[in-house]
Amino acid sequence: MSLQGITILGSTGSIGVNTLDVISRHPDNFKVVALSANSQVERLFSQCQQFRPTYAVMADEAAAAQLADRIKQADLPIEVLAGIDGLVQVSQLDNVDQVMAAIVGAAGLLPTLAAAKAGKRVLLANKEALVMSGRLFMEAVKQNQAELLPIDSEHNAIFQCMPTSFDNGLDSVGVRRILLTGSGGPFRTTAMDKLANVSPQQACAHPNWDMGRKISVDSATMMNKGLELIEACWLFNTSPDHVEIMLHPQSVIHSMVEYVDGSVLAQLGQPDMRTPIAHAMAWPKRIDSGVERLNLIDVARLEFEKPDLQRFPCLRLAEQAARAGGTTPAILNAANEIAVAEFLDNKIRFTDIAPLVEDVMTQVPTKVANDLDTILQADQTAREHARRWIDRQQQQGKA
Ligand code: NAD
Ligand code: MG
Repeated sequence: MSLQGITILGSTGSIGVNTLDVISRHPDNFKVVALSANSQVERLFSQCQQFRPTYAVMADEAAAAQLADRIKQADLPIEVLAGIDGLVQVSQLDNVDQVMAAIVGAAGLLPTLAAAKAGKRVLLANKEALVMSGRLFMEAVKQNQAELLPIDSEHNAIFQCMPTSFDNGLDSVGVRRILLTGSGGPFRTTAMDKLANVSPQQACAHPNWDMGRKISVDSATMMNKGLELIEACWLFNTSPDHVEIMLHPQSVIHSMVEYVDGSVLAQLGQPDMRTPIAHAMAWPKRIDSGVERLNLIDVARLEFEKPDLQRFPCLRLAEQAARAGGTTPAILNAANEIAVAEFLDNKIRFTDIAPLVEDVMTQVPTKVANDLDTILQADQTAREHARRWIDRQQQQGKA
């Protein structure tokens, strides 16, 4: 394969670090053109020393100034950019072939969309971007001949089990449905009356995966699987009726595709994100990812269960949003981002997350989501409603 220039949006995060690990194994195939982070100056600086990108971007302006100082002192030939404009710029550069979209949350939408509009290979980890802007995003990919490759382990697995082309719908290629698997997170078997008092630390202690804090909480509520349902509908041009969510506590099967002849194809592997990252970066080739081999004799048992919607109400809300369409998924996502941040900050309980999201979904009306302004407006309105919900709770708590 020819040398691929790559921009990493969110290089200091869990996905970013795993991407750099894969790149470091293949210096002849990949060249880092740009690295970026929100505000972690030291971490981005040490990545700059190791990978020598042309650009380093910090979303936070003050952090960008600090990074520029460090780069200057070290006499590195790296241009430091700041803010959303910097992120958009490095997603569109001519010498960039691939953009790893690994910013967490709505903050990743504009640069990820910019990469699609510039016709890049978009390595999509930032599921929130697609959840918010599904139709617009898929149109941008199509109109600009971008390539969209899923990094989310489930969607990467589904992609690997799909026929080469499914543009004309899953029916036309004999796919009956998608089986979307999830581990059930750290609270799959926790007594229901204990959930109100779980700590952020407990919620972030995922049994199988080591991830950023936001997605870890989403895995504990299973909002993550709900966002993944919406993500799957866009990526694979299908509806929630053709996606079945099932619990698979071992996280060895990463998802499956069922065909009309009765065949069910699965992708298996260690729960290590370097597998989907290496797959998407090299596709259609295969490269070493550094991932340990899967030993099924050691695994011994694979189990499956139906998810309990009483335990995981966020799953029900996301399914509702998937069916409602328009701006509803963006509203769901924004409310959830606020709820998760407040839970991580010990301001609300774990069991407040779903009622908060549900209340915001009831309050903010759904609109047609054909342009970015409408989507960003829905995101803002939902965040305002979510903050008001929390204020009301705190007032009641004080009363
Ligand atoms: P993380 O919190 O570890 O990293 C987030 C990265 O985004 C960091 O580099 C951070 O600096 C950057 N960032 C945060 N806010 C920003 C902002 N406002 N502007 C610019 N940059 C910002 O998160 P993660 O676990 O790596 O997840 C990243 C994305 O990948 C999420 O959308 C998540 O759902 C998805 N994902 C992650 C995993 C995983 O195993 N970690 C698996 C599947 C999907
Ligand atoms: Mg996933």
